[in-house]
Amino acid sequence: MNAYDYLIDEMGVDARIAALAAEAEAELRPLFACADGVAEYNQLKVLRAMQKNKLSDIHFALTTGYGYHDMGRDTLENIYAELFHAEAALVRPQMISGTHALTVALFGNLRYGDELLSPVGKPYDTLESVIGIRAASGSLREHGVTYRQVDLLPDGAVDYDGVAKAITPRTKLVTIQRSKGYAWRRSFSVAEMGLLIQRIKSIRGDIICMVDNCYGEFVEEREPMEAGADLAVGSLIKNPGGGLAPSGGYIVGKKEYVDRAAARLTVPGLGKEVGPGLGLTLALTQGLFLAPQTVSGALKAAMLAARMFERLGFGTLPAAEGTRSDIVQAIRMGSAEAVLSFCRGIQKAAPVDSFVTPEPWDMPGYDAPVIMAAGAFIQGSSIELSADAPMKEPYIVYFQGGLTWPHAKAGVIMAADTMLKDGALPGFL
Ligand SMILES: *Cc1c(COP(=O)(O)O)cnc(C)c1O
Repeated sequence: MNAYDYLIDEMGVDARIAALAAEAEAELRPLFACADGVAEYNQLKVLRAMQKNKLSDIHFALTTGYGYHDMGRDTLENIYAELFHAEAALVRPQMISGTHALTVALFGNLRYGDELLSPVGKPYDTLESVIGIRAASGSLREHGVTYRQVDLLPDGAVDYDGVAKAITPRTKLVTIQRSKGYAWRRSFSVAEMGLLIQRIKSIRGDIICMVDNCYGEFVEEREPMEAGADLAVGSLIKNPGGGLAPSGGYIVGKKEYVDRAAARLTVPGLGKEVGPGLGLTLALTQGLFLAPQTVSGALKAAMLAARMFERLGFGTLPAAEGTRSDIVQAIRMGSAEAVLSFCRGIQKAAPVDSFVTPEPWDMPGYDAPVIMAAGAFIQGSSIELSADAPMKEPYIVYFQGGLTWPHAKAGVIMAADTMLKDGALPGFL
């Protein structure tokens, strides 16, 4: 019995949905081979970084308290620095999310009177309260840091003239979001970000260029530092944690800027010297080792979802054959019912909590109720099979992840099948 038969006979998937998936999968084979190629390259990069830093059994020992001389933590940070072509890295379970890591990098490097610039439109929702776009106690704005934003042009390109005009003597740091976040826009490739950084540096070389690298790690062969970024920041419960990291964030880049972030995360004067691994270094390191493979599976699932939902008459971004710089697949569902149905299907396909029904809720940091389907081993982990959507027009669902390609594929198929059964695929015979 093959997997498609199992899906139909044992799991109740409609045979027409299975046929649609099989056809899409066959068409996408050449693109899957490209994703495999990138994964092979990145796997070797990770392997070499671990070997060069003489990763050893002793590094997985548990450390507690202040965490002075935590060799495992220091070695993992050296591995990250090597991998990302950075001078230094801060990789810590004490950073509880991507937003926290970004907050640490921003507060560490911005001072009273400085200005922060986003040249790629509105940043990720949770950063609105960090910056003070949305009033919040403790925001950068409250600390005297102003903010300026240059929106993308209607075709999704960077408004280079607008960016040049927006740079003032007070501009201290530019934040470039690689992934689309909850926006219907393309994600920026490493090369595109490189052009933008070059342009900004040509205006003033001392502006710190930071990339919000969430969801982007290991999608391409190069990372932002190789295109001139000074800092790159991300979450360990997304790509680089490989699904095994139970919590954490990372900041990589120029030593001076990473050290400033460390002084903010821990204590001025102590910085990177403190912070215990708490026994998590093994999971963080092993997850990093698996990450290139996990990311390639997630990319294939994103392509499969794009192709199937294009065939079902939905708008997708990127298109199945589009270039990718992150693992997120946006699908324009057009109605709340379709979003809910898709998310129910993803939840049904989960290994954990497959029996629960996801509901939208007022998550802190977001301005509309958000639905999150994630039957994940690690709470909120979106390198695991997951889908989320702000419940507002035009009802776009953001799909990503999958710890293994076979599981991610089953998730996409079950989402489409659930929509068929809920009557949310009106155009389908
Ligand atoms: C996920 C994400 C973040 C951070 O979100 P957390 O949930 O706090 O980890 C920031 N920026 C982008 C583009 C993201 O996708």
